[in-house]
Amino acid sequence: MSEFPQTELNKVKRLPKRGQYDKKTIYEIVDEALICHVGFVLEDQPFVMPTIHVRIDDTIYLHGAVANRMLTHIKAGNSVCLTMTLIDGIVFARSVFHHSMNYRSAVLFGKGRVIDNYDEKWDVFKALTEHIAKGRWEDARKPNKHETNITTIVAIDVESASAKVRTGPANDDEEDYTLPIWAGVMPVQLQFNESIDDERLAREIHTPEYIKNYKR
Ligand SMILES: Cc1cc2nc3c(=O)[nH]c(=O)nc-3n(C[C@H](O)[C@H](O)[C@H](O)COP(=O)(O)OP(=O)(O)OC[C@H]3O[C@@H](n4cnc5c(N)ncnc54)[C@H](O)[C@@H]3O)c2cc1C
Repeated sequence: MSEFPQTELNKVKRLPKRGQYDKKTIYEIVDEALICHVGFVLEDQPFVMPTIHVRIDDTIYLHGAVANRMLTHIKAGNSVCLTMTLIDGIVFARSVFHHSMNYRSAVLFGKGRVIDNYDEKWDVFKALTEHIAKGRWEDARKPNKHETNITTIVAIDVESASAKVRTGPANDDEEDYTLPIWAGVMPVQLQFNESIDDERLAREIHTPEYIKNYKR
C-alpha cells in the first residue's frame, strides 16, 4: 500500500486540496521533523506532549523513562495521534484575515505496543540516534544494560495518516490587491549553527564531519 485510504478519520475537510495521503509525502515530513507532538486522552483530559521520534517502515517509535505517563498509556495499547510540523514560510497578506503560513504537516493515527525484546530495543536506540544525526551511533557509547532496562520504548503501527501542505503566495481578496500594503512571504528555515565543543572535551578530539556538515 503506497497510499493511506481516505476515511472519515484522516480525510482533510478544511481546504481538501492541501491534503495528501501518499506514504512518500507523509514519511518525508515524519523523517525530516525533529519533534513529534503526541496527542492522547487520559480520563477525559486531552494532553499533547512534544517528544523525539523515529520511523522504521510503517512504525513510529517513542522512548522515555519507565515512569513516563504518556508511554505507560501508549504501551497499554491505547490510540494516539502523532503530529509532525515543518514551517517553510510566513505568509503576509494585504488583509489580516488572509495571513497564513507555508507548511508541511503530517497527522498519524495508531495504537501502541511495548518493545520488550532487548535486541529490538537496541535497533530502536540506533534508529533514534541516527534520526538525530547520521553517524552518531557508531561514535557514541552504546546504552548499557541498566540504561536499556530503565528506558521504555513504545511502537505505534501507523493505521491511518494524512499530510497537509501549503505553498505559494498570499491569497488576498481580489479587491485588496490594489491596496498600498506590502505583501509577500518570509521564507523560514531551521538553522544549524557551528557546534560548540563541550568544555570538558579532550584537546585531541576533533569535531566529526557529520557534526561539521550537519543538515536535515
Ligand atoms: C503551522 C500551521 C499553522 C496553522 N494555522 C492554522 C490556523 O491558525 N487556523 C486554522 O484554522 N488552521 C490552521 N492550520 C491548519 C490546521 O492544522 C487544520 O488543518 C485546520 O485548522 C482544520 O482543522 P479541522 O479540525 O477542521 O480539520 P479537518 O480537516 O476536519 O481534519 C480532518 C483530518 O484531516 C487531517 N488533517 C487536518 N489538518 C491537518 C494538518 N495540518 N496536517 C495533516 N493532516 C491534517 C487529519 O487526519 C484530520 O483528522 C495550521 C497548520 C499548520 C501546519
